[in-house]
Amino acid sequence: MIAALALILPVDCAGCGAWDTALCETCAGILASPRPRRHELASGLVVHAAFDFADRPARALRALKEEGRTSLVRPFSAALAATARAGVPDAEAVFVPMPTSAAAFRRRGHRVVEAILARSGLPALAVLRRTRSTRDQRELGRAERAHNVAGSLSARRRLDGRRVVIVDDVVTTGASVGEAARALREAGADVIGVASVAHTRRSGFVRDTDMNPG
Ligand SMILES: [Zn+2]
Repeated sequence: MIAALALILPVDCAGCGAWDTALCETCAGILASPRPRRHELASGLVVHAAFDFADRPARALRALKEEGRTSLVRPFSAALAATARAGVPDAEAVFVPMPTSAAAFRRRGHRVVEAILARSGLPALAVLRRTRSTRDQRELGRAERAHNVAGSLSARRRLDGRRVVIVDDVVTTGASVGEAARALREAGADVIGVASVAHTRRSGFVRDTDMNPG
């Protein structure tokens, strides 16, 4: 419905609010030029993120997630693919999306992470499922987030020896991707990292290295 309305009503740029364009040239250029960063979580799990969750990429990602601006799947897919190829150059790896919660799917009508991954050209394996509902992580502090998601995911089948990369849209404290890693390892997978569209600069990362300086 929202996408249909956008065809007949004036729109503003998803990244900066400029009038009469779904994505202005400047914002399109920024989304087309990710600067992947590598972050190591306290757990040792390594996150490769295409963008900082700030400014225009953050605004555009919110527009995709919360306003149904699904035309943004394409640029974010390209950014994810570039980030994954740079950060996890492993031809054997498969990419496992964080499953969308039933509540988020009801609210949005689409599955953001799955859609971005599907469009990326990366080999996808949607093998995680939610075994119980959780509270919205945005309402919670760091310690609460970890507790909230603990034991909430499982793999649908054994993954013995499979090399997997977890895919998420925004990594904040790393609690959700940490739970995904636990579930995948329990199923026998070798979790070699996380690829995300964005990460926030809140606490949760112990090391933060620019993969692409200059
Ligand atoms: Zn713009």
